[in-house]
Amino acid sequence: MKKHANVPVFVPHIGCPNDCVFCNQHTISGKGKFDPNSVDKEIDLALETLTGFEGEVQIAFFGGSFTGIERGLMLMLLEKAKAYIDKGKVSSVRLSTRPDYIDEEILDILSGYSVTDIELGIQSMNDRVLSLNKRGHTADTSRRAMALIKERGFNLTGQMMTGMYGATPEDEVFCAEEIVKCGADSARIYPTVTFRDTALEKLFLKGEYTPPTLDDTIERGARVYKIFENAGVRVIRIGLQSTEGLHSDNVIAGDYKDALGEMILSRVRLHEMKDYFAKNDTDTIYVPSNLISQYVGQKRGNVVLLEKELNKKIKIKGK
Ligand code: SF4
Repeated sequence: MKKHANVPVFVPHIGCPNDCVFCNQHTISGKGKFDPNSVDKEIDLALETLTGFEGEVQIAFFGGSFTGIERGLMLMLLEKAKAYIDKGKVSSVRLSTRPDYIDEEILDILSGYSVTDIELGIQSMNDRVLSLNKRGHTADTSRRAMALIKERGFNLTGQMMTGMYGATPEDEVFCAEEIVKCGADSARIYPTVTFRDTALEKLFLKGEYTPPTLDDTIERGARVYKIFENAGVRVIRIGLQSTEGLHSDNVIAGDYKDALGEMILSRVRLHEMKDYFAKNDTDTIYVPSNLISQYVGQKRGNVVLLEKELNKKIKIKGK
């Protein structure tokens, strides 16, 4: 697979009149205010760190709802990105936005500015969950947006959450299945984090929202990951990235640790091995060599657990 690097430009909340209960974009993006005039500097600094990198470099507008930004500012940001493309410093643009900010006209504009990848904040495909979390759109809005993005030839990344207020693990399985069905090329899985100064914090403090335990978060993440993996949809990220602003004192509950992705992948492999040993009378399993660490688990956790459960020594070998 071709190497890929993002030059992230965080555009916090400015395009978004919504107030999803879990959202505190200022915390997530690590910034209080957005200054469009600092974007070039931000991109230049990021590009400096990529000196010598051989592969595809994209400018990535993340954070808010890019296509909902005031039109003049959106075009200005796209122009800035285009200048880097014209100079051959980056190859294309990716951005994240909401399903209700996608239509033919927007997609026409994006095509003209070398946007190739659109990440859609789908979060859930259950209307009750969407409404409880004050998302302001329905599952059908997401279906329509995904269809339009694919019809127009963009790469589609479906972003979904686990552990949302009011969501069950079954809702999350359904969401992953729908993202697959709508033709996503890749996905991101975000276990819910409860940030300070959000409506979710209030729900949590009132006892109306119970964040999943770490083990539950891992289990739910593993279930949806497997759906994407089985369908050949690459999961490009699990969990929020630790940025400067994601300090632990902004986090009230939920897991955002960098190791969460690894923990979820290990759980996926644990389930695979359990299935395998249940069906095969052997003590050895052959797995892809590059994934051995996922199968073994952190501190050999999967091996220890399986040996205890199966009451025998097991061998995990690369093939
Ligand atoms: S749509 Fe995105 S940016 Fe807007 S409030 Fe919801 S999570 Fe935050």
